[in-house]
Amino acid sequence: MSNILSIQNLSKSYGAIQALKGVSFDVPEGSVYGVLGPNGSGKTTLLGILLNVLLADAGTYSWFGGMPPDDARRQIGSLLETPNFYHYMSAYNNLEITASLRSRGLDDRNSVLQQVGLFERRHSKFQEFSLGMKQRLAIGAALLGNPKVLVLDEPTNGLDPAGIAEIRQLIRTLSSQGITIIIASHLLDEVEKICTHVAILKQGNLLLHGPVDEVLRQEDWIELRANDMAALQQALLTLPGSVAPSFRIVDGLLQLTGAQGITPSMVNEHCMAQGVVLTHLVLRKKSLETRFMELINK
Ligand code: ADP
Repeated sequence: MSNILSIQNLSKSYGAIQALKGVSFDVPEGSVYGVLGPNGSGKTTLLGILLNVLLADAGTYSWFGGMPPDDARRQIGSLLETPNFYHYMSAYNNLEITASLRSRGLDDRNSVLQQVGLFERRHSKFQEFSLGMKQRLAIGAALLGNPKVLVLDEPTNGLDPAGIAEIRQLIRTLSSQGITIIIASHLLDEVEKICTHVAILKQGNLLLHGPVDEVLRQEDWIELRANDMAALQQALLTLPGSVAPSFRIVDGLLQLTGAQGITPSMVNEHCMAQGVVLTHLVLRKKSLETRFMELINK
C-alpha cells in the first residue's frame, strides 16, 4: 500500500502554547486514519496545516507523493466545520450553492446525493432533515469534485445515536469505494469501530501511530487460582514460552501477564504436569478503553 500523505516533524505554536511538537506519520492509501486525542491535543491544528488553512512553524508534509499543492487540494474533500446550509432550501439547491462557492463539482450533485444516501430526499428542505441527514449532506458537500481523500474533523460531534450510526455506516461505504479518509476524533469508540489506522496525540506530542490492532492491541492476561498458591507460583516459573511471563497476586487470584502465545489450556496442562490442580482459570482481555486511558494518562 503506498502512502497518500507523508507528515514529517510538524510543529506549531500559538504564542506560548505549543499545539504540535514534531509530529510525523504516514497515511496509507485506502486507510481510514483516525487522529485521536483528548480536546486540546492538537488534532484540529494538524488538520488545518494539512489542508493549508494554517501554516506550520516547522516541518513538512506531502500529499500524493509530492503533487503540487494546488493539484493536491483538488483531490481532497474536507469537513472542518459544518457548512452554513440554508434551512429553507432543498438539499439539492444547498449543494448547488456550495459547489459554486467552491467552484467545483456542479455536475456531480446527483451522484454525491446518491453516495450519501440522500438522493430520494434531494428536494426536501434542509430544515426537515434529521441531525444525521444534515451531517450526511455536509459530507456530501465535501465529496463534490470526486476527491480521493476525505478529511473530517469530529464528524459525529453533536449527533444523536442514530446520526452517529448513519455517519459510521457512510464512512464505511465511502472507504469501500476506495476513498482514503482521515478523521480527527476525541472518541476512542469511533476509531475502534471504523478506523484501520490511528495516530494518538496528547498535548501536541504523537504518542503512537500505526494500524489500530497494533497500536491499541489488546493485552490479555490469565487469571489463576490453586489450593496451593505457592506451588502454583513455583510451577509457573518453568512455563515454556519465548517471552518471560510475570505474575502478581490480586485478591487471592494470580494474574499472569506477558505470556505471549500461551493459552489457558497450555497453562492448565503445564500446572497439571507439575502436580498443581487449578481451581480457577480465566482468560481476561484488557479493553481498548483501558489501553487508551493508560496511554493518555501516562
Ligand atoms: P484539538 O483539535 O485536539 O481539540 P486544537 O488543535 O484545537 O486541539 O488545539 C491545540 C491547542 O492549541 C489547545 O491548547 C488550544 O487551546 C490551542 N489553540 C488552538 N487554536 C488556537 C488559536 N487560534 N489561538 C490560540 N491557541 C489555540
